[in-house]
Amino acid sequence: MDNSGIKNIGILAHVDAGKTTLTEQMLYTCGAIRRAGSVDEGTAQTDWLDVERERGISVRTAQASLTWRGCMVNILDTPGHLDFAGEVERSLAALDGAVLVLSSVEGVQSHTENLWRAMQSSGLPRILFLNKLDRAGSRAAELLKELPARLGGYFLPLNTVLSEGGRDCAVARDAALSERLAEAAAEFDDGVAERWLAGETIPETESRPILAGLVRAGLVTPVVFGSARQALGVETLLDAVTDYLPSAETGSGELSALVFKIEHDRGMGKLAHVRMYGGALSSRDTVRLKNDEVREGDEDRPAEKIAQIRKFNGQRYVDVGRVTAGDIAALCGLSGTRVGDYLGASRPGGAYALANPFFRVKAQPADPAQLTALVTALRELSDEEPLINCRWEKSEREIDLNITGEIQLEVIAALLRERYGVEAVFSPPTVIYRETPLRAAEGFEAYTMPKPCWAVVRFLLEPLPRGSGVVYDGGRVPHDRLFYKYQEHIRTCFRTCLAQGVRGWEVTDFKCTLIDGGHHTIHTHPLDFFVATPMAFMNGLQNAGTRLLEPFIRVRISAPEEVLGKVIGDITGMRGEFDAPVVAGGAFHMDCCLPVATSMQYPTRLASLTGGRATFFSRFDGYRDCPEGLGRDAPYRGVNPLDRAKWILYQRGAYQE
Ligand code: GDP
Repeated sequence: MDNSGIKNIGILAHVDAGKTTLTEQMLYTCGAIRRAGSVDEGTAQTDWLDVERERGISVRTAQASLTWRGCMVNILDTPGHLDFAGEVERSLAALDGAVLVLSSVEGVQSHTENLWRAMQSSGLPRILFLNKLDRAGSRAAELLKELPARLGGYFLPLNTVLSEGGRDCAVARDAALSERLAEAAAEFDDGVAERWLAGETIPETESRPILAGLVRAGLVTPVVFGSARQALGVETLLDAVTDYLPSAETGSGELSALVFKIEHDRGMGKLAHVRMYGGALSSRDTVRLKNDEVREGDEDRPAEKIAQIRKFNGQRYVDVGRVTAGDIAALCGLSGTRVGDYLGASRPGGAYALANPFFRVKAQPADPAQLTALVTALRELSDEEPLINCRWEKSEREIDLNITGEIQLEVIAALLRERYGVEAVFSPPTVIYRETPLRAAEGFEAYTMPKPCWAVVRFLLEPLPRGSGVVYDGGRVPHDRLFYKYQEHIRTCFRTCLAQGVRGWEVTDFKCTLIDGGHHTIHTHPLDFFVATPMAFMNGLQNAGTRLLEPFIRVRISAPEEVLGKVIGDITGMRGEFDAPVVAGGAFHMDCCLPVATSMQYPTRLASLTGGRATFFSRFDGYRDCPEGLGRDAPYRGVNPLDRAKWILYQRGAYQE
């Protein structure tokens, strides 16, 4: 099949903006389903986890396909709650374009801005759907004016609002659309501008392709007004998707596929949802998956056989047997797969971090006999959502999880119960700190005893500015001193060292250079550098000393004017910073930055302070220096490489925890 017409489109929104309802209407309008389901009755095609139907929110990205004017569109309805941003972040890598849904009552919400920034930085072409015109308080025109200031960019409305704010709301094709398109094209194209200013009519056949190019470049965002519930504006939206969002590229024929989502099927086990960038896969093909996030045991991941290839429409599927470049499908039978796996060439992308779990909880089974079952279940859930990063130390009989928020924890608890029959108890959340070297220092290890072994490693660690992440520079030591293959071992092992520094937290914002090292042609055993690297790294951190970093959130507080003084006092008390408040009509808005550690309970306090008349929207802002004495060190989990003798015995398999 020729996939040149396929478009993989994500539907993104802040929770409750109407994504699921809109997806239903799009499917219905194209005849892909006979009756539009309703999220309120729990019959939506794409909402099907029990927890989703009960809570009326989407937690997992659901898929459906439709055909409009001969163009095949794969739709991914992504979760809208910030707690599941990890899932959205990974889906972005599978998309050719997106529809961002906004409620025309609530307007731009905090998570809308997060999503916008993520789409912008990954260069994803997008269309805006301004939904809920039928609701009282809908203010479409005002919102359209606000957009450039709130989100940035050029917004091009494709239809007009005749009436809004009630059931009789209506939209129409803009009578002056041709002119509007010409004007937008002229804004960016000098040739068109000249003719347009000279009074020439620019035909749509000419302005449309120019605009499609501008949409692809992320410079122009088409806007469609509508109401998903009243099936209003849906056709215009489908036309816009077909006309303006790009189709999938089909590559050179070489195999390239990315696992962007894992699901669990009661009968089939793991389902690996893949986006095909090049080549083709068929049932019964044998594949060997790779992953850039190295985990223990990755060196010998076995090849696995694809048992079935499914194409999904909500929870219904067809066994298609084959999937080709440009398309999306689910592979069955790959039991060892995890999110982020790929086949063929590795693809950059999806680098934008939308999700930042900054809480940690401890999990325990309600029934102690279910400990192993709980560990197995949580590990499987970590394959689906790697950010959970479930860790278990036998010695401590404790399971640690990272979470983004309380709703995510609730969903994890529900999945454990429904899918695995395990009841879990969670500790109150604590903040996840990070650590970073204080000053430049060397780390050294000469692992040459007890023979046979020989691995010498010397690193230079240097601090980098906040938000830089980790830069590794290795592989320049002359081959005769240190074989390149060993320099690669060091590189691989270095990544696994980052999880815990000398204070027990993930290490970040620094550069590590492999400045020297040595092997021995007789004594070096193939795995010796996996023993020496963590020791050299921890030695370097010890020499440098480390500082704790703590997560901050950026918050917009809106509340009645009379509590302004109190709120400012609270923010200062929480070690926060704030911009000058904007006061209007008896209320104020204020943007501020707060440490997560001090503000966890603040929404509750704010609600009681104002009798529930305040709003508190937050998004992750980054990690900043934590004043000495205020953070908390975490105990090292497992055997610490600084405990040299024990570490060596442990690595050689002679020491059991
Ligand atoms: P999601 O969380 O973004 O997937 O949003 P849903 O599709 O679940 O919708 C959230 C709520 O808004 C539900 O109660 C919908 O019935 C309602 N809703 C969705 N679209 C519209 C609309 O166009 N008008 C009105 N009045 N309500 C809508």
